[in-house]
Amino acid sequence: MNLKIKPDEFSELLSRLNKVWRVYAPSAEYRGGRFSDTDNVIYQPVSAWSDIVWQEKSHMSPNTVITPITETLFYFDKETIQIAEVDTTPMLIFARACDINAMSRLDYMYLQNGGNADYSYQLLRDKIRFVLIECEESFDNCFCVSMGSNRTEAWSAAVRFSDEGAKVCVKASELLPFFANLGEACDYTPGFVEQNKEQVRTPDSVCDDPQKIRDILTHHPLWQAYDSRCISCGRCTTGCPTCTCYSLFDVAYEENPQRGERRRQWASCLIPGFSDMAGGHGFRPQPGNRLRYRALHKVNDYKARAGTQHMCVGCGRCDDRCPQYIKFSLIINKMTDAVEQALAQEANL
Ligand code: SF4
Ligand code: SF4
Repeated sequence: MNLKIKPDEFSELLSRLNKVWRVYAPSAEYRGGRFSDTDNVIYQPVSAWSDIVWQEKSHMSPNTVITPITETLFYFDKETIQIAEVDTTPMLIFARACDINAMSRLDYMYLQNGGNADYSYQLLRDKIRFVLIECEESFDNCFCVSMGSNRTEAWSAAVRFSDEGAKVCVKASELLPFFANLGEACDYTPGFVEQNKEQVRTPDSVCDDPQKIRDILTHHPLWQAYDSRCISCGRCTTGCPTCTCYSLFDVAYEENPQRGERRRQWASCLIPGFSDMAGGHGFRPQPGNRLRYRALHKVNDYKARAGTQHMCVGCGRCDDRCPQYIKFSLIINKMTDAVEQALAQEANL
């Protein structure tokens, strides 16, 4: 079913949806932005047309509502453990193609990696549906086309927003009743971005052996420049729709320290101490080491392990957010050039 819906009808649609679903979309956090007098565009519950920011890329990904920044896993006392309740109210998330594609990476990491499915992620996962936000054109720093994540069919409905209202394509029968008596029929098929200004070649385009790529890049001098440029703030990882690292810690209650809760909280492999072990040994002491680890994970190691796509979906948020203007798309191209040169040198020996 395809409909053209005016803004006030869209608000009515959201109010109907909110009776059954938790509805999340990119929305402005007033004056929470990176620069003074700017808003932060993050995923928040929406109940009216004016709540949704569709004109720009969100600064944070839907990760913040799927795997919260801080989450209690269980409560404990001296003898018992009680698993924390997971809110399994169905979730409808407005997201762009790259972020919907990122879900397959989260699914692998939370449900398959290590052979154990994550309890709370698994309970929630079946309840999540997506409304595709059509990108009419590419935003700054996006390289989704190179990463093959510019297209998706994993949506229940798709929307093209404009100042006049929205064109909606509804695919899932479970959503049809919410549209009763709204809008007028129209022709609409969601389109996808087919070209980005930024283009990358990933290392596997010049070498089909992930271990060889690792061998060439692990001690390559290209990372040294980032020892001084990267300030290890972790902003690149917190905006990433495919980052899944977290730390675990126990909080003991002040009134009774034998009772408490175990929480997990997002962590970043770019921050000093992330890989430190008992005894104080750290595997990646320099910012360049940590950047190399992240880059290899995103465009080599994850794919070698999961066997499907690269982890990075090319949303460009790490580039958007880096205070040091470090461009991940440029790093990927530098990695591939370095592998290509090393292979050429080997061939000429
Ligand atoms: S590594 Fe950067 S471009 Fe790739 S998915 Fe993460 S934030 Fe987006
Ligand atoms: S956002 Fe930039 S400076 Fe901060 S950790 Fe990431 S690469 Fe380094």
